[in-house]
Amino acid sequence: MISDDLFKEALKVLPGGVSSPVRKFEPHPFFAKKGEGCILYDVDGNRYIDYCLAYGPLILGHAPEKITSAVCEQIKKGSAYGTPTKAELELAKLVIERVPSAEMIRFVNSGTEATMAAIRLARAFTGKDKILKFEGAYHGAHDYVLVKPGSGAAAAPDSPGIPQDTTRNTISAPFNDEEAVASIIEEDDNIAAILVEPVMANIGCIEPEDGYLKFLRKITSENGILLIFDEVITGFRIAPGGAQEYYNITADLVTYGKIIGGGFPMGALAGPRRLMEHISPAGDVYQAGTFNGNPVSVTAGITTLKELTDDLYKELNKKGEIIRKGIKDILEDNNLEFYLAGLSSMFQIYFTQEKVKDYTSAKTANLEIFKKYFHSLLKGGVFVPPSQFECCFISAAHRKEDLNMTLEVVEESIKRAVKQSPR
Ligand SMILES: *Cc1c(COP(=O)(O)O)cnc(C)c1O
Repeated sequence: MISDDLFKEALKVLPGGVSSPVRKFEPHPFFAKKGEGCILYDVDGNRYIDYCLAYGPLILGHAPEKITSAVCEQIKKGSAYGTPTKAELELAKLVIERVPSAEMIRFVNSGTEATMAAIRLARAFTGKDKILKFEGAYHGAHDYVLVKPGSGAAAAPDSPGIPQDTTRNTISAPFNDEEAVASIIEEDDNIAAILVEPVMANIGCIEPEDGYLKFLRKITSENGILLIFDEVITGFRIAPGGAQEYYNITADLVTYGKIIGGGFPMGALAGPRRLMEHISPAGDVYQAGTFNGNPVSVTAGITTLKELTDDLYKELNKKGEIIRKGIKDILEDNNLEFYLAGLSSMFQIYFTQEKVKDYTSAKTANLEIFKKYFHSLLKGGVFVPPSQFECCFISAAHRKEDLNMTLEVVEESIKRAVKQSPR
C-alpha cells in the first residue's frame, strides 16, 4: 500500500495529510497517479470510474487531448505576463455569448475570490453591509461566508478565527423557505445581497422548489437588494448559460469557478456593465490578483467552452438520466426508499426517507450507511466524493459501458451498506 505510506509521510508535513479538508477520508485517501478520460488511477495500482472529477471542474474528463495540447502550446509561450492578453478577451466574449446577464467579467483565481469580490461590489453598490446566504450553502473559504457552510461537512461548526464583527453581517436562512427570507428582509433594511447557489451542490444536490428562485428575484428587486447567483458548480454544467438559463432567472451578479478554468485554477465574476464598471480600475471597488486572467487557465477555459456544444449538453443530460433511472430502479427493486437527487449531469443518493429540500432535511441522512456505501464503491472501482454532502458529477468522457458497470457496483454497494447498518 503505497498510499498508506505516503499518507503517513503527508501527515508530518501537510495539516491532516491533505491540502483541502474534504479530500481526507478514513483510513486514508488514495494518492492519484494519473487521470485519463473518466478513469482515475492511484499509485497502488487501482483504477476508478471517477464521479468526483476534482469536485466539478472536469466536465470533459481527465486530460482531454484538446485541452492538453492547447495548454502545452500556451505554456511554451509563457505562463504569466502581468499584462493583458487576447486570450482573456476571447474567453470574456465566450462567456458573454452564453450568459445573457453578463456584459462584463472580472477573472480571478478561484470561486472563493469570486464570491469575495461579488460581496464587496454588492456592498459598495447598495451602501449596505449585510449578506443573506442559505444554511448548507458553500461559497468558498473566506470569512464572510463561513456561516453554516456546506462543503462536505454539513454538521461542521463554524470555523474559529473569524471575528464576530465579520459574521455579524452574514445572515443565514433555510433554503426553499419563502417565509424565512421574507421575514428577515422585513426586519432588516441593511441587506446588500442575497447570495445563493441556485442548486445547492455542497450539501449533496438540492434543487430549488418551483418558483423559489423567482421569489428571490422578486423580493430582492423590490427591496433594493442584489441577487447574486453562485454558479461555481452550476455554471456551464447544467446549461450553456448555467442556472440562469436553466431556471429562466436573471441574477444581478454571477460567480463562476471550477468548469470555467477547464481544469486549471480560475474563477470569475460577471454582470451588467452598470455594476461591473464599479470594479477597479474602471471604478473604485478594489479587486486585484497577480494571476488574474492567467493565460494557461484562460486557454483551458476557452478550449472547454468551445467543446461544450448543445449536443454535448444533450449527451451529458442523457448520461445523467441513465444513472438516475438506474439508481431509481435499484432502489425500487430492493424496496428502499432513499432520496435520489439530481439534474443534468449531477446526482446524489441521500440515505434518508425524507425529501431533501434544505440543510435540516439533508442532515437526516444516515452517515454510517453512506460511509459503507462509499467504501464499497471504492472497492468496486467507483470513486465518488467521500461525503454524503457533496455532489457526484458525470463527464463527457463517461461511456455507456462505464455507466452500466457503475450501476452494478452501486447496486451491490447499497445492498451491502444497508445490510451492515442497523436501521
Ligand atoms: C467550490 C465552490 C466555491 C469555491 O471555489 P474554490 O475555487 O474552491 O475557491 C464557491 N462556491 C461554490 C458553489 C462552490 O461549489
